[in-house]
Amino acid sequence: MTDPARRNPVAQESYLPLREAVRRLAAEPGAPANAFEWYRRDAHKRGAVALGGTDVPAIKQGRSWVVPTRAINVAIAAAKRARKRIGDATQAYEKEVLVGEDGETIHTTWGGYRRHGPFRNEWSDKDRYQQRSDGMWLCNSCNLPALLQHEKPTCHRCEDWGGCGKDCTLSGVKCQGCGAQLRL
Ligand SMILES: [Zn+2]
Ligand SMILES: [Zn+2]
Repeated sequence: MTDPARRNPVAQESYLPLREAVRRLAAEPGAPANAFEWYRRDAHKRGAVALGGTDVPAIKQGRSWVVPTRAINVAIAAAKRARKRIGDATQAYEKEVLVGEDGETIHTTWGGYRRHGPFRNEWSDKDRYQQRSDGMWLCNSCNLPALLQHEKPTCHRCEDWGGCGKDCTLSGVKCQGCGAQLRL
């Protein structure tokens, strides 16, 4: 005997109207809330919607979009975990504790940092948005801004068009407090 669920797996899948899925996601505390229209356009454009950082397939049923209930639950759980990570990293930072490992990018409620050996490149979302600063290098042990060495040749983008938007000539960072160094 064939298990009916295996014979027709599609019948086992339950769907939720996209509008309801968006409502459930927005009901989560601290969830980013885009307007429903934004999700509908996303579904229309690529047959999928980005719900709280997870791509969920969207299917057109009649005149409205539906999404698999299971995928929504997975997306909501993932969004919850991501928010918890951000909350934990922000709280740790307030106690001057860095989280994550070398090379990892850590997000906080105000921005974040990317770890590079004894240093970190820290940015503020607000400063980036206002194009005031793309971030700064800090020593992890001293919390002092590092001295920057610019000895690399400018990249092709900078030479040909001017402005790659990155600090492409940065060759090294050095802490004036403890003497820690990093070649880049
Ligand atoms: Zn450049
Ligand atoms: Zn230092």
